[in-house]
Amino acid sequence: MSVKVGRERQPLLEVKNLKQYFPMKGGILGRTLNYVRAVDGVSFDVYEGETLSIVGESGCGKSTTGRAILRLDEPTDGEIRFQGVDLAGLNHAEMRKMRKHLQVVFQDPYASLNPRQTVGRMLEEALGIAAVLPKAKWRERVIELLENVGLRADQAGRYPHEFSGGQRQRIGIARALAVEPKLVICDEAVSALDVSVQAQVLNLLKSLQQRFGLTYLFISHDLGVVNHISDRVMVMYLGKIVEIAEKSTLFENPCHPYTRALLSAIPVPGQEKEGERIILQGDVPSPLQPPSGCRFHTRCFMATERCKIAEPELRPMGEEHSVACHLV
Ligand code: SF4
Repeated sequence: MSVKVGRERQPLLEVKNLKQYFPMKGGILGRTLNYVRAVDGVSFDVYEGETLSIVGESGCGKSTTGRAILRLDEPTDGEIRFQGVDLAGLNHAEMRKMRKHLQVVFQDPYASLNPRQTVGRMLEEALGIAAVLPKAKWRERVIELLENVGLRADQAGRYPHEFSGGQRQRIGIARALAVEPKLVICDEAVSALDVSVQAQVLNLLKSLQQRFGLTYLFISHDLGVVNHISDRVMVMYLGKIVEIAEKSTLFENPCHPYTRALLSAIPVPGQEKEGERIILQGDVPSPLQPPSGCRFHTRCFMATERCKIAEPELRPMGEEHSVACHLV
């Protein structure tokens, strides 16, 4: 589904200057010696009905951003507003109620399902926590949920090990949908699956989005997957947003050198783009001591002296397109 994302639309989720620092302790007294700056001041909106993808290499802060939004880790600083409500201001009980609207599908369906529970029981448990239906209606709803994700009613009595990887991820999706959420955070939700199964699960997510008006925050390291499912794409590097744009803009006209390097690595069917691949040197630096100035300058093929000193701001380039680079 292609969503028109206009500035006049009210965001479902607003993230402002989100920071997530993890203390590094050491010494005999276990004092905090330093902080891992996993997410370092990111701001973005997610609009109702769209899929915003967060993409970047391992360690860029994309999954940490998702966890902070859900308050699975308490954010160090910043504001997270869901339908105008500041999530950081909610107490434990209020946040529990709010979680009905914000669900997550994790990467590893093997680890996220209880091996000792049947699928039907697992879904009933989710319905019980959500407390949206009387118990007498649970059975009927479990069957409906299984059918919504392409499974059969008679599979409700089976255990997770009796399903394939793709089917287990469908169960994870059914569990997330049990509480009728508005926003689903998909954290590398198809990364553990074979390519053919990935496509099936992505198509399922898209059809569920259309059917139930879901909004997705889709976290992935795989630009091919992101291209398949997104309306907009946000690229992160070392805890910062470096570029955010509508999908077609980002894929056709990437501006940030990091985005260009990531995209140059995607094979284009039928096109051999010899010599155009941008190979990034070295690894992502440690978020314990991020480089000065532009955090990407140690690997950037366009870096100048200024990049080592001054940090570039995320600046608008046009409608729904912002880039953080001195040279753009
Ligand atoms: Fe590269 Fe400099 Fe732009 Fe950073 S600011 S991406 S180092 S050119």
